[in-house]
Amino acid sequence: MADQYVCPNCGAAGLTVFYETHDAPVHSVLLLPTQEEALNFPRGEIKLGFCDQCGFITNVAYDPAPQDYSSRYEATQSFSPTFNAFSRRLANDLIARYDLRDKDVIEIGCGQGEFLVELCELGGNRGVGFDPAYDAERGLKADPEQIRFIADYYSERYTDYQADFVCCKMTLEHIDQTADFVSMVRRSIADRTDTIVFFQIPNATRVLRDLAFWDIYYEHCSYFTPGSLAYLFRRSGFDVLDVRTDYDDQYLMIEAKPACDPALVTADDAALAETRRDVEYFRTRIPAKLREWQTTVRDLHQQGQRIVIWGGGSKGVAFLTTLGFYDEIEYAVDINPRKHSMFMAGTGQETVGPDFLREYQPDTVIVMNPIYCDEIQRDLDRLGVSARLLPL
Ligand SMILES: [Zn+2]
Repeated sequence: MADQYVCPNCGAAGLTVFYETHDAPVHSVLLLPTQEEALNFPRGEIKLGFCDQCGFITNVAYDPAPQDYSSRYEATQSFSPTFNAFSRRLANDLIARYDLRDKDVIEIGCGQGEFLVELCELGGNRGVGFDPAYDAERGLKADPEQIRFIADYYSERYTDYQADFVCCKMTLEHIDQTADFVSMVRRSIADRTDTIVFFQIPNATRVLRDLAFWDIYYEHCSYFTPGSLAYLFRRSGFDVLDVRTDYDDQYLMIEAKPACDPALVTADDAALAETRRDVEYFRTRIPAKLREWQTTVRDLHQQGQRIVIWGGGSKGVAFLTTLGFYDEIEYAVDINPRKHSMFMAGTGQETVGPDFLREYQPDTVIVMNPIYCDEIQRDLDRLGVSARLLPL
């Protein structure tokens, strides 16, 4: 029990810790050019605490100080056709839902600008993207009259940039003070109450039910269920228009607009009871799940199999470090060429491109995200690699 810990989502005191891992690299996706740097990478503790008042889950041991969202931060997914198809479908869907044509769009945490450019090009919109990791050298080029990028954290300093649509994808889970952040977004919108706000984050309900420990890593300090996310937005002065999941339930999305008449907000009891059950399920089943993976991989290794993981990002780092795999798995495969010849934080595997497998001929490929299995199988067929795919 983290008795003194105050829930950053609702302000209640006392969170129950239900999962702990030690020695998690404080970053999973920084580009690390030497194995030594990867093995000696700074570590931190993860202690997931559950708030019984609002259903929020957070790493109560999280320290934001070592987080470095510089241009060494490499999290783009845009080398994957599966991901790109999803992204385009989402952009078209949002444009249709909210008539985003000839409108002003802000994206908070825009990465290298892929989604913002898509929204602006498909809908003929004007955009401003904020991200401290945005790198003008390699970020998407766009007509500066139409799209601008600001390499900084979004804050109230930028209230002058008003928009019809504010989107924020895969960012809120990196922010520990969640209510402060969403309230800041609400204040920045001020009296433009027609503004639509869209947030997308990982879906913690799926993480709990799938025992997806590979989705729990240091950068992600905040974990939301549909109930705790809707609660946060209502509490921060929004009316919630829709909450849904996508991408095989991996992503949780919310659409909201400023509330004209903010009412007293209480958590949804039914949703809270469901999360309580999911947390308890995770707490009791996770030790066996970890043992199962350790046994599977160590057995294959002892049989002399060559094993690689496919996915050199955060899931890969969390999988390898949580299970403590150093020698059992020699390489991590990734389709992002910027990651090639870099090393996995914590366990030090070299990241290689798919072509490397033509020579290496692994026996087993552990797939860090099953949604890419078809795409990976096509790559392996093309390369003449007959390895068995083992999805998480
Ligand atoms: Zn709470």
